[in-house]
Amino acid sequence: MQQKLVIDPDLTFIREVKRLGGESVKKCYQCATCSVVCNLSPATSAFPRKEMILAQWGQADKLIRDPDIWLCYQCSDCTKYCPRGARPGDVLAAIRSFIYEHYSFPSFMGRALANPKALPLLLLVPMMAILVMMLAFTRADFSFMAGSIEFSKFIPHGWIEGLFISGNLLIFLFAGIGLWRFWKGLHAMPGGESGPGFVASLILTAKDIILHINFGKCEANKPRQLAHILVFFGFIGAMITAGLAVLALVLFNYGSPIPLSNPIKWLGNISGLSGFVGLTILVYRRATMKDRVGANGYPDWLFLVMLYLVFITGLLTQFLRLADTSIAAYSIYYIHLVIVFFLLWYAPYSKFAHMFYRTLALVYARSIGRTAKT
Ligand code: SF4
Ligand code: SF4
Repeated sequence: MQQKLVIDPDLTFIREVKRLGGESVKKCYQCATCSVVCNLSPATSAFPRKEMILAQWGQADKLIRDPDIWLCYQCSDCTKYCPRGARPGDVLAAIRSFIYEHYSFPSFMGRALANPKALPLLLLVPMMAILVMMLAFTRADFSFMAGSIEFSKFIPHGWIEGLFISGNLLIFLFAGIGLWRFWKGLHAMPGGESGPGFVASLILTAKDIILHINFGKCEANKPRQLAHILVFFGFIGAMITAGLAVLALVLFNYGSPIPLSNPIKWLGNISGLSGFVGLTILVYRRATMKDRVGANGYPDWLFLVMLYLVFITGLLTQFLRLADTSIAAYSIYYIHLVIVFFLLWYAPYSKFAHMFYRTLALVYARSIGRTAKT
C-alpha cells in the first residue's frame, strides 16, 4: 500500500517569513525558472525552487538546517525572471533573518532585534551606559567643554576600551552558543557528496568571501559587488584603526588626539570614506530600485542604517573637532559611541550575525560538495 505523507505546516514560520520581507512566498507555482537562472545554485538538487515550496508548506525545521539558504546572495537574478513575481531571493533573505532569530541566545534578544517596537528600549541601553560613564568621569560639571576639544576629557579612552572588551567577551560567548546550535543543525540534515575537508573548505571559503567572488556572479544587481567591497574593507579598516589607536595611546603613550599626519589617521579616514561611499550606494539602490536589488525586511534596514550612521558620525566627529565646535563635536561623539555599542552588543541578534552564520554554512556546504554549477 502506498504510504501517506503527512505535512505539518508551521504557520507561525510562514507569518514570520512574510513579515521579514518574504511576503510574496505564496505566489510560487514551482516552474523552476529561478533554479535554472541562479548562477550560485549547484547542479544537483538546485535552489531556490525547493526552498520556495518548503517555505510555502511551513517546513521551518528543514529550512533552518538547509545550507543552501546561505549560498544565496540575494542577487535578484531569480526575482527578475520569476513569472509569478514570487521574489525567491527576498524569501530566502527573510528565512536567513528568521534563522538568526531562531538560534539566538538568549532568545528574547533575537525577537527584540526583529521587532521595531523594541528599538527605543534597545537604544536606551547604550545611551544610558555611555551617559553614566560620562557623568561618573566628569561629575556633570561639563568643564571638559572648556579649552581644546579632546574626547578623552569626555570619557577616558581606557573606560571605553574596558566596556568594549568586557562587552565583546559576553557577546562572543552568546554568539558562540547560537552558532554552535546552527552548526549542529546543519549536520543533522542528510549529507550530500563529499567535498574537501574542513580546513581546505575554510580556506577556500575565506578566499571567496575576501575576493567577493560570489557577488561577481550576480547579473541583475552587479553594482552591489563594488559597494559591498567598499563596506567590507571600510569596516575591517575601521576595526584595525581602533586597535592601532589603542596600542598607540596605551602602549606607546601617543598624545590624544592622534595627529592627522599619522598613518593611523590615514587608515581611519580612508576606511571611513570607503564605508560611507559603499553604504550610500547600497542604501540608495535598496531604497529606489527594489525590483532590481531585492526588498528588505526591518532587520536588514536596521543594520544598514546603523552601520551607515557609524561611518557618518565617525567622520563628522573628526570634522567637528577640527572645526572647533565644542557642543556639536561632543554631541556627535556621544551618538557615535551609542551606535557603535548598539552594533556591538546586539551583533549576535542583528544582521551583523549573517557574517558568521553565512561563513559557517558556506564552509559546511563546500565540505559536502555543494558548490555553484558555474
Ligand atoms: S519562485 Fe518563481 S521562478 Fe521559482 S519556481 Fe516559483 S514561480 Fe517559478
Ligand atoms: S537571489 Fe540570486 S543567488 Fe539567490 S537564489 Fe536568486 S538567483 Fe540565486
